Amino acid sequence: MKRAALFLAAIMLAACNPSTEETSEAREPPRLAYAMTMDRGQVEPSLLVDVQFTGDSDGSTQLVLPNEWGGQEQLYGGLSDFEALSEGAEILPTDNPGVLEISHAPGADVHVRYRLAQDWEGVPEPSGGNPYRPVIQSDYVHLIGWATWALPQWDDWPRENPEVDFSLDWSGMPEDWAVVDNFGTGREMREARSPLNRLQAGLFIAGDFRIVTRQTGNAPLYIAIRGSWSFGDNEFADDLANVVTAIRTFWQEDSAEPYLVTLIPLHRDEDNEGSFSWGGTGLVDSFALFATTNVELESFELLAAHEFQHRWTPSMLGDFADPEEALYWFSEGFTDYYASLLLLRAGLMDLQGYADQTNAALAAYYRSPVRTAPVDRVIEWNWSDPDLQKLPYQRGRFIAARWNAALMEQTEGQDNIDAVLFDLLAQGAAAREAGAARQLTSQDIVDAAANRSLTTAEADHQNFVVEGAMVPIEQGMFGPCFDVTDTEFYLWDIGFDAEASFEARLVTGVQTGGPAWNAGLREGMPFGGWSIPEYGDPDTDATFFVGINGEVVPITYKPQGDETETIRQIYLPNDLSADARAACFAWLGAN
Ligand SMILES: [Zn+2]
Repeated sequence: MKRAALFLAAIMLAACNPSTEETSEAREPPRLAYAMTMDRGQVEPSLLVDVQFTGDSDGSTQLVLPNEWGGQEQLYGGLSDFEALSEGAEILPTDNPGVLEISHAPGADVHVRYRLAQDWEGVPEPSGGNPYRPVIQSDYVHLIGWATWALPQWDDWPRENPEVDFSLDWSGMPEDWAVVDNFGTGREMREARSPLNRLQAGLFIAGDFRIVTRQTGNAPLYIAIRGSWSFGDNEFADDLANVVTAIRTFWQEDSAEPYLVTLIPLHRDEDNEGSFSWGGTGLVDSFALFATTNVELESFELLAAHEFQHRWTPSMLGDFADPEEALYWFSEGFTDYYASLLLLRAGLMDLQGYADQTNAALAAYYRSPVRTAPVDRVIEWNWSDPDLQKLPYQRGRFIAARWNAALMEQTEGQDNIDAVLFDLLAQGAAAREAGAARQLTSQDIVDAAANRSLTTAEADHQNFVVEGAMVPIEQGMFGPCFDVTDTEFYLWDIGFDAEASFEARLVTGVQTGGPAWNAGLREGMPFGGWSIPEYGDPDTDATFFVGINGEVVPITYKPQGDETETIRQIYLPNDLSADARAACFAWLGAN
């Protein structure tokens, strides 16, 4: 007894008096503090960003500027006027325009200031894609960490994603501005000990936003919105809260960390009234939505589900191993699969809605001009070709459906693809607990599926992802209530030469008896342009403006000729019994 007590005391003493070696391993993380001040004194609005950090012990620390993210390049173009404010500190250029060398007293606290401004003109517009570069306007700022922060890269804390003692001071923003970011809301100082990427992959906004709060599980959901929309702020917030709650419930998340969703309008030209555009991006504890203000509320549901699902696929499961595009079949495809499925399970979408979503994805997949591209092309071309960018979403979604159906069959309905995700989540959590960053590869996904007795996982990945074969769309793959049927669709055909007509400003190349001819388009009519809401979709009306008797006349028709293609689609029988409907919901994991 006495001996045991002594032994315990010895251990406690050891814990209180660690050796010097242990001290250096377990020392405090470096300090990293930012302060933001709006500078309206310039011609263009800009922010002054003060960064203060613990300098390396050798008297020199690299400051890494934003460079590439989300298909954007040279993001350091928005940062200028670097100034060293701490005594004895000096800023030296390096061979790399995205890296500065700061020399300073060994281990000193270093203070550098820089200016952050838009390195592009105007306001966010659909033609610019998602506005990932800093948006700094006179009435608001919208900043994604990847494009905003000059970050020290320490030799003393050499890890990829080191823990930092971080703070962010917003007090230099105009008094009447709302402020919110992925750490919280309001103007109070943000302070956190957290991995660097919570800052780097965070979302930071301030300005004339309206901020609405909803409780989802244990965590507050902050919704920041600006501009006027066809729906009210509360309607939007309720909808998002439903989506977020559904996905949190699936993942059994009880975290109390706040979560942020932002929505900013994309400016629409007056002569482009009919066009819609919306997009989003998932960030740490947040996602950002961008849309033209004519987009309806429902359109945001699926987008929000997709972006919130990214909190797990892949983030909670692990970080992307390089090259990250090789994992997009999983990170985007499974995310799309679950976005629809979890809305269905939560009762936010019905079986017909699920069929419609699936059919739209099937049609896009079959019509993709790059549908059999191997993964090497996806890795190489992702950001430059929209078809290649979409391909991993399409093929991954149907790999998820295929694997789900196979697991259901093999286990007689005991297991579905959820089990694979939860295995991956457990692996991710174990790695985090061990203090290691998990680099997620396609092989990890394949192994997790194979461990759940999915015997085709390895071959499927090789065939459909690596080599690019079409994922077969088979009966029973989406649930027992859906019929999978080959369906004939007309091919896209506008029936005249739009490009030549546009160039000549005269209608040219009309096919006699074709769709344009039948709608009244004739060779030689003055040609004024078009409105095509869904380019490439033969089932959506297209409008062309022509001159008839000196007047501009719109001619509208479905851009389809005689040629057809066959696409697999899924159908819900009209006479589906209540029992069959319930069995289908159960098969899809809905209660
Ligand atoms: Zn995504």
